[in-house]
Amino acid sequence: SLGFHNGEFIALDQKIIPIDERGHQFGDGVYELIKVYKGAPFMMREHLVRLEKSAKAIRLQLNYSIDQLEAIIADGLHRAGLAGQDAEVYIQSTRGIATRLHTFPNVEASTTMTFRPARVIPAELRERGVAITLAVDERWANCYIKSLNLLPNILAKQAAVDNGYYEAVFFRDGYITEGSSTNVYAVKDGTLYTPPATKRILHGITRHAVLRLARELNIPVVEEEFTPDFLSSGDEIFISSTTIEVLPVTTIEGQPVGNGQPGPITRRLYDAVIADATR
Ligand code: PLP
Repeated sequence: SLGFHNGEFIALDQKIIPIDERGHQFGDGVYELIKVYKGAPFMMREHLVRLEKSAKAIRLQLNYSIDQLEAIIADGLHRAGLAGQDAEVYIQSTRGIATRLHTFPNVEASTTMTFRPARVIPAELRERGVAITLAVDERWANCYIKSLNLLPNILAKQAAVDNGYYEAVFFRDGYITEGSSTNVYAVKDGTLYTPPATKRILHGITRHAVLRLARELNIPVVEEEFTPDFLSSGDEIFISSTTIEVLPVTTIEGQPVGNGQPGPITRRLYDAVIADATR
């Protein structure tokens, strides 16, 4: 494992961020997590384009171009001894280091990264599926920005885990939005349903891959709002993210989903994502 801070590779535990740093003080920044399969970052461009979009949405000028970030990622993976391995690259850009004031400082953005071996999702979770609970979506109006402000997400996730669930899935104004760190899908009568890519959800890179692969597999896709009841009535439910890829959900609020087993369409989409990532 290895860290990166504005042009320097550093040890992960090296103390580097001063007290007056805006990510630290205000959550004034954006981030990405990219998964690397046998040395090849999956959908890296898409992640870096989303990083730029998130930065633009908060009026932050990144201190690296996408091409520069790609080069740093390749270098970092190599230096971390992760060349050819399964790994995770975390990238965070903030509005930099300046005496604490709400107004924007006149300084460069600051970018840090970590390079670590990939976390492994236990096979048991994939085989049995996971349990989800529903939670009121108390987040702000711009959830499409991958910002550092994750307090509602971590509070919902911790409450879910404290109660024996794997993930909390949010609903807002009667409609499902997304999980605390995942996008969510229902399969009903062979059709794949997921909430539309509005400002209410993060436009997941894995979501994008899932929908593209579903279309390639001739699975009908509907991107429309649906209620918690509709989700619960799905033949299959699954969640997706860079970290978990595609993970079946077999109970919702303690009630079995469909026949209580991971479903065939979930399985096909998981296999398709892995095939795409390792091709
Ligand atoms: N939704 C939220 C709120 C997230 O934080 C994440 C990822 O961390 C996702 C969805 C999934 O996005 P991606 O597939 O790009 O990892």
